Amino acid sequence: MKVLVAIKRVVDYNVKIRAKADRRGVELANVRMSINPFDEIAVEEGVRLREAGLAREVIVVSCGTPACQEILRTGLATGADRALLVKTDLPLEPLGVAKLLHAVCIRESVGLVLLGKQAIDDDANQTGQMLAGLLGWAQGTFASSLNLSGGRAWVGREVDGGLETVELVLPAVVTADLRLNEPRFATLPNILKANHKPMATTSPEELGVDLRPRLTTLQVVEPPKRPGCTLVGDARQMATALKLAMGRGMPS
Ligand code: AMP
Repeated sequence: MKVLVAIKRVVDYNVKIRAKADRRGVELANVRMSINPFDEIAVEEGVRLREAGLAREVIVVSCGTPACQEILRTGLATGADRALLVKTDLPLEPLGVAKLLHAVCIRESVGLVLLGKQAIDDDANQTGQMLAGLLGWAQGTFASSLNLSGGRAWVGREVDGGLETVELVLPAVVTADLRLNEPRFATLPNILKANHKPMATTSPEELGVDLRPRLTTLQVVEPPKRPGCTLVGDARQMATALKLAMGRGMPS
């Protein structure tokens, strides 16, 4: 079975996000970019499935500008077998990405698609669900465990009431949550080896996908600045400060 892992290039999680002065988006110039953290987990899961003999091949795919090749190389260095860039300069919405991944899944005849549960830039949490809908496949979202056997997958999910397990018939779409696994680091020999692994490029036109935007971002602004904190000497001073801050009386 082939496993496809979708990885997105996002602003690194350590970077403090700044809105552009013209309010048309987030500042990306000279900003450190990385693979979306949930997607690293998805890649690790795919590689573990192959190592366990449950997958034949792990393909990493990213949609976006040629800069996405950096994160595809990272995916290859952490164990994926080959990479595919769906090259476009157009802005991508979750539905557009889901359509591109849908076309890749059909072309590659994959048995399982792994994605992150959400991309930390737009926090959309939509692509995996839309992809499952387009494919007509089962979906296991927010996976904290994944077991495969006999053409079925069992996905553990941390829900409000405890731990839920859903059974899916393959092929299926699974989105990775934080506790699914701990991704390995790419070692230097594997980084060097990754340079020799295959990296193909395709385009939305070649895949027959129309990426016309369906939504318009009206503005992106930074949240209001929080007032600085006040250090208080004791509990009494803290109660007074709280009373002032909340503008109402505190129980004595
Ligand atoms: P989102 O629905 O935007 O929160 O993204 C959920 C997941 O979809 C991400 O964690 C990735 O696995 C995948 N994804 C989103 N955008 C892209 C992209 N441009 N290229 C590849 N995968 C993507």
